[in-house]
Amino acid sequence: MNRREFSSTMVMLGAGVHAATAQGASSDKSAAYYQEPARKLPVKQCDVVVAGGGTAGVVTALASARQGAKTVLIEKKGYPGGTVTEGGTALHSFYNLWKAFPNAKKRQVVKGIAQEIIDRLAKVGATTGHAEMTKGFNYDSMCTAIDTEMYKLVTFEMLVESGVHVCVGTMLVDAIRDGSRIKGVIAESRSGREAIFAGSFVDCTAIGDLAARAGAEYTEPNDYSVANSIGVANVSVEKYHEFLKSSGALKEYSEGMRSGKPGKIVRLHANGRKLPAEFRAAAGKIGMSVVITTVHDDYFMFIKLNCRIPGKPTDRDAVTRTELELRKRQAKAIQVLRKFVPGCEKAFIARTSPTLCIRRGRRIVCDYDITHEDVIGGRHFADDIMVYGFHDSAPRYQIANGGTYGIPYKALRAAKIDNLLVAGMMITSDHRAHMSTRNTVCCMGQGQAAGTAAALCAAKKCAMRDLPYTELRKALETGGVYFES
Ligand SMILES: Cc1cc2nc3c(=O)[nH]c(=O)nc-3n(C[C@H](O)[C@H](O)[C@H](O)COP(=O)(O)OP(=O)(O)OC[C@H]3O[C@@H](n4cnc5c(N)ncnc54)[C@H](O)[C@@H]3O)c2cc1C
Repeated sequence: MNRREFSSTMVMLGAGVHAATAQGASSDKSAAYYQEPARKLPVKQCDVVVAGGGTAGVVTALASARQGAKTVLIEKKGYPGGTVTEGGTALHSFYNLWKAFPNAKKRQVVKGIAQEIIDRLAKVGATTGHAEMTKGFNYDSMCTAIDTEMYKLVTFEMLVESGVHVCVGTMLVDAIRDGSRIKGVIAESRSGREAIFAGSFVDCTAIGDLAARAGAEYTEPNDYSVANSIGVANVSVEKYHEFLKSSGALKEYSEGMRSGKPGKIVRLHANGRKLPAEFRAAAGKIGMSVVITTVHDDYFMFIKLNCRIPGKPTDRDAVTRTELELRKRQAKAIQVLRKFVPGCEKAFIARTSPTLCIRRGRRIVCDYDITHEDVIGGRHFADDIMVYGFHDSAPRYQIANGGTYGIPYKALRAAKIDNLLVAGMMITSDHRAHMSTRNTVCCMGQGQAAGTAAALCAAKKCAMRDLPYTELRKALETGGVYFES
């Protein structure tokens, strides 16, 4: 059973939100309406608006500002970072799956700004570095994990240093269309409601708020469980390792930098089938995943609690019920760890995600939709903006010969809107292909291309579709992007 299968078994055992909580709480169906009066809003002008300062958005805004574009980043939370700081375990993946393919060359296939962030984190002891997997390397060849709190600070500082106007605590609430172009967005913060006009726009909201408000075509596949993750402190990584080894359940293992020292355990993954039955049953009831990564002693950085949402991630009331359910599951997870895992007797929750972590919200229709065959066949395109070599369903699905496939520029261009790009989990309709393109490092790579292209288009006052690929490619190569297929 691989990690995915184990987590989906856990989700099935967890059986989603309890039926009783799902009743009678859908949106208010009353027919009453209130007509909002028109309002005169202050207008801010810039070159590029990036909506959403998460995994892709941070890199998008950095890339845009570094091209000299006056860039505004709109982020609803109080910090940048997004799901990379809240949902996952390791950043998948800067490398190809070379360890699973004896003839494949070891290659770092994502570099550029994404690697720069890791370098900055390394300087403050906030990453494991690229730690080679010594067990379970048919899943990934490297484990790159981060200190989630330092990631927020380091990326915030990088954005400010690059001259991005970072607007945290600011919600994108609407878009203003002008024919086939977007003229501006409407944002709300405690400073008020404002219109922000720009030449180019990039939607990095994960859920597709900007694209949807601008009238882009989209679907809502609702094909994943949602999750919330907790950071658990006062635990022994070494004892958890011993426990997994003695149960015959150790499946993945890697050593890297931890609390400033090299050669320490930084990733452990259990084979669910081999876990003691009682532990497995208790974890299964709450959709608890038992993959851990860490950059600190005595700390499990991510314990995920998966759950089926009784609705869609865009349904407020369904989200509210799931947020409550997941918080209950988090509390139960601590009880499970304390009871079954040696070294966790005094464990406690040190971090929770501020909001539900989704694996997919809206899927925005773009000029090209990357297929499963493109991914596993290692297809490259004449307009590649990056290459990528990881699949979250490995070893079941993996990229041919441990190589790479390309993400084409056309896969980031929202269909039928001239000046909108999307980056992150919003691209790719096929669930199997999305299991590759949605991963953090792929989202970051897409961000570098989207930010660069948005800035170039704003400067040339041209539509995203009219940007000559050679110009984009040159700028990306100058920005350190790797292209070898
Ligand atoms: C539980 C879970 C586990 C995962 N595990 C892994 C893993 O181990 N490794 C891996 O590589 N990937 C993993 N992934 C996938 C990966 O983390 C995500 O797909 C990726 O981080 C998504 O990046 P993004 O930029 O699209 O979205 P996000 O990083 O979520 O960024 C979206 C940002 O937009 C902001 N925003 C949203 N709406 C608005 C609005 N209207 N106005 C202003 N701001 C807004 C949000 O606050 C957020 O900061 C996991 C995902 C989940 C949910």
